[in-house]
Amino acid sequence: MSLAPALKALLVCPLCKGEVDIREVDREIWCRADGLAFPIRDDIPVMLADEARTLTTDERLDRP
Ligand SMILES: [Zn+2]
Repeated sequence: MSLAPALKALLVCPLCKGEVDIREVDREIWCRADGLAFPIRDDIPVMLADEARTLTTDERLDRP
């Protein structure tokens, strides 16, 4: 699976409006500032805080 480059360029965190880390292998989009992982479902990023899971401390500190 992969997301369209134009879509990737538009993606920001809905909470802090900051840069996000697109983890296509994990099918998640991470905002380390907020410690949230937004799911990618059927190639569609679900950028809703209610749908996100909380990153673990290790995940937050990991660098791409
Ligand atoms: Zn954020």
